[in-house]
Amino acid sequence: MNKDTVIEKLQSEKFDLLIIGGGITGAGIALDAATRGLKTALIEKKDFAYGTSSRSTKLIHGGLRYLKQLEFGLVKEVGSERAVVHKLAPHLVIPEKMLLPLYEKRGLGSTLTSIGLRLYDWLAGVKREDQRKMLTRKQTLKQEPLLNPQDIKGGAIYAEYRTDDARLTIEIIKSAIARGATVNNYCEATDFIYSEGTANGVVVRSNLTDNSFVIQSTVIVNAAGPWVDVLREKDKSKSGKHLHLTKGVHIVVPHEKLPVTQSIYFDVGDGRMIFAIPRGRITYIGTTDTDYSGDLDNVHADKPDAEYLIRAVNLTFTNVNLTLNDIESSWAGLRPLIHEEGKGASELSRKDEIFESTSGLISIAGGKLTGYRKMAERVVDLVVERSFDERELKSCLTGSILLASSDFKGYNEVIRYRQTIFEKLKRHGLQSHVGELVSNFGKQCDDILDRFEKITESDAEIRLMKAQLDYCIKMEMVKTGSDFFVRRTGLLYFDLPLLTKVMEPCFQTMAIQFDWSDARLSEEKNEMKRLIDQALNFKR
Ligand SMILES: Cc1cc2nc3c(=O)[nH]c(=O)nc-3n(C[C@H](O)[C@H](O)[C@H](O)COP(=O)(O)OP(=O)(O)OC[C@H]3O[C@@H](n4cnc5c(N)ncnc54)[C@H](O)[C@@H]3O)c2cc1C
Repeated sequence: MNKDTVIEKLQSEKFDLLIIGGGITGAGIALDAATRGLKTALIEKKDFAYGTSSRSTKLIHGGLRYLKQLEFGLVKEVGSERAVVHKLAPHLVIPEKMLLPLYEKRGLGSTLTSIGLRLYDWLAGVKREDQRKMLTRKQTLKQEPLLNPQDIKGGAIYAEYRTDDARLTIEIIKSAIARGATVNNYCEATDFIYSEGTANGVVVRSNLTDNSFVIQSTVIVNAAGPWVDVLREKDKSKSGKHLHLTKGVHIVVPHEKLPVTQSIYFDVGDGRMIFAIPRGRITYIGTTDTDYSGDLDNVHADKPDAEYLIRAVNLTFTNVNLTLNDIESSWAGLRPLIHEEGKGASELSRKDEIFESTSGLISIAGGKLTGYRKMAERVVDLVVERSFDERELKSCLTGSILLASSDFKGYNEVIRYRQTIFEKLKRHGLQSHVGELVSNFGKQCDDILDRFEKITESDAEIRLMKAQLDYCIKMEMVKTGSDFFVRRTGLLYFDLPLLTKVMEPCFQTMAIQFDWSDARLSEEKNEMKRLIDQALNFKR
C-alpha cells in the first residue's frame, strides 16, 4: 500500500473500471469488480468511510419499518443479506437480539407486530431458533426493567446484527486491494475527461499534496453517496431523478446513564422509531430524519436534534432523566436517498437506484449499508454487460470472500478467540479492551499484539493504542489523525476519555512516521479539536 507506488499506478495504467467514492457502496463495487477479473481502481476524496458510511446506526438490519411502507423486495434482499455479511466477518457483524416494546396508545398493536415480525423472519429466511418471540407485559418489563411501565402492553424480541460501518468499509477495501484493485484515499475527482462524448478519464487532485493527475478508465462509476449529484452536475447529466438528502443524528451517553441490557427499538410517539444500542462503556441513541440542504462536508448534530432524542429516551425509560450535559459524543450523517415528489424525509424509499448518463457515467445512490453486496453485484453486472461482454469473466463471488483475514467458522469461534485475546490482554491489565479490539480487528489482533510486544512505552493503554496505530498506518492507509481516531478505532464516538489520553502520544508517533513539520502537526491537532468540539456542538 505504498502511496507513491499507488499514485504512480493510477497515473500510468488504463483501468477497466474507476470507482469514485470510498464508502461502503464504492468499496463493495471495487471488491466485486476486482474478483471478477476487471482491472479496477477506486479513489476517495478524504478517508474511506468519511461520508455516510461512518455515521450510520451501525446495524446490519433488514429494515423492519420498511414493511410498513410495503417495501417487501427491499426487506427480503437486505434481510437475507444479514446472514451473508455475518458469515463473511463474524467478529464484526455480531448477532444482536432487539427488544421491541409495544404500547397501548402508540405504535402498532400486538397482532400486527406479531404478523409483521413473522413476515420479516420469513422474507429474510431467519433460522427457526432466531425467529421472533412475542412477550407478555410482565416478560417485557423483566427483559428491560428500565422501561417506563406506564402504557406498556407487551413486547417482541427479534434478531438483527450490529457492526462498525467504517471498519466494515475498510475491510472490504483491503479485500479489494488484496484481489488486485488499485485504491487510494485523499484523491478527489475534480473533473471528467471525454473522448467523443464518452467519459473515459478523471482529473484527480491529491488532497494531501495538492498535486493533480489524470486516471484513464473505460468505465467510470460514481459512488459518491451524498455527493453523487455534485459529480452528475460536473458531467452535465443531473436531470430527471435527483438526490434528496436527509440528516440522521446519534447521541452517545455513558452506559451508566442509560444502562439498557440489550438493544431496543422503540416507538417515539410521533410515528417514528429510534434505537438505543449499548456498546461497551456507552449507549448510543438514534436516529433523527430531517431534510438537509447545508454543507455536505460539515454535517453535525444540532441542539434540537439532541433534545428530540433526549425527550424520546426520557419518555420511554424511567429514572433516566437524560440531559444535554450527559451527552459524551455524537455523530450525524446524510442519507443519499432518491427524491420522490410529495414525500417527506421518513417516507422516502431506501431502495438503491442506478443512473446512466449519455456520457456513459454510471451513478448509484440510495440503498443501505446492509445491502452493499447486492448493490455492487447489480452495478458490476451492468458494467460487464455494457463494456466487457466479450471477456471471460468470473461471476459475482463476494458472497464467499471472507473479510479481515478471517477464517472464523462461525460466531462460537469468535467467542473462543476473544477469550484467548482476553487472557493475553489481562497480563497487562488491558482486559477491558478485548471487546472493541476483537470486534474491530478480528484475527488481525494477533498482528497488533505482535506489534505491542515490540513497543517500549510504560503506559499499557497508550502502548496498545500505538500498536493499533502502527498496524493501521502500515495496513489500512491511515494518513491523518482523524482516520485513526474516528474511522479505524471509533474513539471519537465510543471512548472520548481514552481519546483524550492517547491523542498526544499517538500524534507524536504519527509526526515521526510521516515526517510531519510542526505546522502540519498542529493542523492535525486542530482538526481533531474541531471534531471533538463538533461532536459536542449543541452544548455551546
Ligand atoms: C443516520 C443514518 C443511519 C443509517 N443506519 C443504517 C444502518 O444501521 N444500517 C444500514 O444498513 N444502513 C444504514 N444507513 C444507510 C447507510 O449508512 C448508507 O446507505 C451508506 O453508508 C451509503 O454509503 P455510500 O458509500 O453510498 O456513501 P458514503 O459513505 O457517503 O460514501 C461516498 C464517498 O464518496 C466520497 N466522495 C465524494 N465525492 C468525491 C469525489 N469527487 N472524489 C472522490 N471521492 C468522493 C466521499 O468522501 C464519501 O466517502 C444509515 C444512514 C444514515 C444517514
